[in-house]
Amino acid sequence: MSVLYQRVALVGLGLIAGSMAHAMRRKGLVAEIVGTSRSAETRATAAEINLCDRITETAVEAVQGADLVVLAVPVGAMAAVAAEVGPHLAPGATITDVGSVKRDVIDQIGPHLPAHVHFVPGHPLAGTEHSGPRSGFAELFDNRYVLLTPEDGTDPAATARLRALWEGCGAIVEEMDADHHDLVLAVTSHTPHLIAYTMVGVADDLRRVTDSEVIKYSAAGFRDFTRIAASDPTMWRDVFLSNKDATLEILGRFTEELFALQRAIRTGDGEHLHEYFTRTRAIRRSIIEAGQDTDAPNFGRGGAKKADGAAKKADGAAKKGGDT
Ligand code: NAP
Repeated sequence: MSVLYQRVALVGLGLIAGSMAHAMRRKGLVAEIVGTSRSAETRATAAEINLCDRITETAVEAVQGADLVVLAVPVGAMAAVAAEVGPHLAPGATITDVGSVKRDVIDQIGPHLPAHVHFVPGHPLAGTEHSGPRSGFAELFDNRYVLLTPEDGTDPAATARLRALWEGCGAIVEEMDADHHDLVLAVTSHTPHLIAYTMVGVADDLRRVTDSEVIKYSAAGFRDFTRIAASDPTMWRDVFLSNKDATLEILGRFTEELFALQRAIRTGDGEHLHEYFTRTRAIRRSIIEAGQDTDAPNFGRGGAKKADGAAKKADGAAKKGGDT
């Protein structure tokens, strides 16, 4: 594949930026990768594992002469970072972000950008519960969606070039309105994370009562919740604070449904429960058919039971399971 950008600046060097660096290198998509992170420790780790061609101490240095700038910091830090780099962006450069929320991020970044750059917001629907520069890997975006949410008037050529980069990283790219993105993600990712956090919190309270039986006998359902609830606290705090309206809307609906199920259990309405679970089962099937998860036993997780190739493949899908 030909080189799409001469110099990419990664501002933030965690799971997502690190995975982008690996994926861009895998296919030779860019001539040079420059990276920076606010802490000396993260910069030193990135240098040690040779994550980028060059590591700079400041974001201002990193974006000098870059034709693509990627903001890969928590959603709540986007405004400050954009304010810092905005005046130093090269004319004609594209700036993008990988934040899990789009409307708030656009509102944070937009005002700090000069008129001579192209802003194409983005969100890769891929992740794990791990963070930091060592957690990145080249396959993270393979066959996963990346949603781009350019506003009206964005240069289509800039969007097309960024799309080509993500496709080169293995992703399936789609364009979407930012508000719609936030509502969709509130359903598919943000609210489920909040529910997982809550369930693990409840079990933790219970654990104190039952003296670690919750851990000892933890079944697959609960273990999946614990994996999701192990996700980065800063990132998720920011996601909920910035996608407030959509998350509250979906949480309201969730609570109503939960009450209906609670009532069905209390009144012994088995028909309601059975109909409900039949409907939800069909959703699981369509996710598997769309290639976005595996139907291997135990979601492909767990060592001893999976010795064959299919299980190995499933493990890859499971490794990438904790997206946002
Ligand atoms: P990460 O592994 O935790 O790395 C975060 C990076 O941001 C680090 O370089 C960190 O710097 C820097 N950072 C943290 N707080 C900052 C602040 N206040 N100001 C400036 N820099 C700061 O994070 P990640 O998982 O790659 O997530 C990055 C972005 O991708 C987030 O916006 C998140 O919403 C989005 N995203 C995440 C996932 C996921 O599953 N993880 C999936 C899709 C999108 P230091 O290490 O130097 O402190």
